[in-house]
Amino acid sequence: MIGINAGHTKSGAGFGAVGIIKESEHTRKVADALKRYLEASGVQVKECTVDAAESQNAYLSKVVSMANSQELEWFVSIHFNAGGGRGVEVYTYQGRQYEDAVMVCRNIAALGFENRGVKAGTGLYVIRKTKARSMLIEVCFVDTQDANEYLALGEDKIGQAIAAALVPYAAPADPVVPVQPPGQPEKQKFVRVIVPELNVHNAPSWAAKTICGTVRIREVFTVKETLTVGSTPMHRLESGLYITAHPKYVETYEK
Ligand SMILES: [Zn+2]
Repeated sequence: MIGINAGHTKSGAGFGAVGIIKESEHTRKVADALKRYLEASGVQVKECTVDAAESQNAYLSKVVSMANSQELEWFVSIHFNAGGGRGVEVYTYQGRQYEDAVMVCRNIAALGFENRGVKAGTGLYVIRKTKARSMLIEVCFVDTQDANEYLALGEDKIGQAIAAALVPYAAPADPVVPVQPPGQPEKQKFVRVIVPELNVHNAPSWAAKTICGTVRIREVFTVKETLTVGSTPMHRLESGLYITAHPKYVETYEK
């Protein structure tokens, strides 16, 4: 089951950003489209949308208690960005590169938006407080050309793009109907971590001094190049960092 929150209230405290479009109106349209695609694929949905609240804090705590009232595989909060940028981005706890979150960005970007990637949303209340894994999707910007492009596409395509990313991981059995991502992203090479934790290096080297962080099981990264360092294969990631390419630790695939 996936919890879906159409971000913000319908009016008053907690109302969303306003630009060419109103965020609160379109989070609901996208959430409805997403729900339709998920349910058509056999994925159950729990609605976690709150239309009115006395304050922003009351709004947030209502959303979180709805999300936490049930065991969820994902809590997904739909938003639109504001402030003059371009493109789609997704926030996860500590910026973990869950494959489904990476695919949400990629599928929306394939519709013509810039891909700003999966970022750390640890400071966001709904990301911190929900028990389920959570992602907050900023579909695009309400106050730039993004909004016009979104209006031309329609919310249905966005819902379809998000569902196509979530369905393969949400349904324990085969989904009734798989969702095809709209637009057709070009194939890319990805690497998925299959052990609990793995080191990341800031140079093509296995030396301890090049270790600059760790990644976790189920996180996925775009591979730019594969080299051999010593006698072991190593991937250079889109971020410019390096990770082992050994099949004992990671799975490498095209999608
Ligand atoms: Zn928002």
